[in-house]
Amino acid sequence: MLMNLEFDDKIPAGLKAKIKERHPVVLERITSCSDHLDEAIRESFLGVYRDKIIRHAPLPPGKNAVAEADIGGREMRINLKRVSGESPDVVIDRMLAHEVMHLAGYRHIKQRWKDPARYARSEPVKAETCVTISGGGQDPFKGIFEKMDDIGKFMKKIESKPGFLDCGS
Ligand SMILES: [Zn+2]
Repeated sequence: MLMNLEFDDKIPAGLKAKIKERHPVVLERITSCSDHLDEAIRESFLGVYRDKIIRHAPLPPGKNAVAEADIGGREMRINLKRVSGESPDVVIDRMLAHEVMHLAGYRHIKQRWKDPARYARSEPVKAETCVTISGGGQDPFKGIFEKMDDIGKFMKKIESKPGFLDCGS
């Protein structure tokens, strides 16, 4: 499918190439992820690619998240200190799947440590699972939210995992 992707001049060429390469893979994996996402949700994910010009811009200075996106909008902002063209595919895939789910209009609670299980059940996070599992990998975060007993311990554990998506939206 034809994708309309737009890039701010400040997105480095290597990252731009990587993002262009990974979007089609992410779209294919999400639209076939019937185990985790309802058809209506997969359809609205597809609709973002069909109907919008997806813009990629840098995360403004002073923000720490890996990425953020406008809910129901068309722009995602990427932390260039934390994501690059050298990042593993799975990191890029999780980021794109999660942020495009925001562009499709889906949200999660902002402060995930307040209710991690609820955060884990949100569409953007389920989309991360889809691209990880169908990519042949195991979900490194599987069960981690549900088993949480101590907030501090939980946060330490999850934030030390490479590829954990700390989303600002
Ligand atoms: Zn998010």
